[in-house]
Amino acid sequence: MLILDRSFGDFRKDKKKLAKFLSTSEENIIILEQIHEDKIFYADKPASGEIAGHDAAITDKKGIFLLVQIADCQAVSIKDTKLNVIANIHNGWRGSAKNIVGKTIREMAKKFGSNPADLHVTISPSLGPCCSKFSDPHNELPEHLHKYILKNNHVDFWKATFDQCLSEGVLRRNINTNGTCTVCSSDKYFSYRADKGDTGRNAVVIWI
Ligand SMILES: [Zn+2]
Repeated sequence: MLILDRSFGDFRKDKKKLAKFLSTSEENIIILEQIHEDKIFYADKPASGEIAGHDAAITDKKGIFLLVQIADCQAVSIKDTKLNVIANIHNGWRGSAKNIVGKTIREMAKKFGSNPADLHVTISPSLGPCCSKFSDPHNELPEHLHKYILKNNHVDFWKATFDQCLSEGVLRRNINTNGTCTVCSSDKYFSYRADKGDTGRNAVVIWI
């Protein structure tokens, strides 16, 4: 796994540099359009351009790189250590609302036969409960997320993702929350909230 932050620069501006950095070709790097929906793409071969309409990708192919771009949203990266298959998910608050993480875990089970007990999950640096203030979370978020609303209208999306993994059968010890808030650490990470919307993108890249 590789996390590209401000020190790399905005990867979108120079995909050749990105490919060189990963020692691969641009077509082997699967980049999703990311529209805050819950569609899962099976990346079984190289592709050029962004994959339209998708927020998660899965693969069982060696040499395919799954990239998720983030600037406060979570990248949730999953590896089945037994079957050697992977998933990378763009998970913002709308993703949490749609449980794209749970859906991807179920897709890995359906497509590859993954047992949730063999999955290792990493939640990237992202918006922490310290900085996730909503104006009216009880109205903005679906009911199943209300238990993550903290005082002062902050929301703990790290815990929400952790629980979504647990309820699919992922083992507690196999879920790793990075715990770095991108807003608090905006000197290191691009942050949508800290930069008031005008920012670059961090990337989390995984491969088999
Ligand atoms: Zn913070």
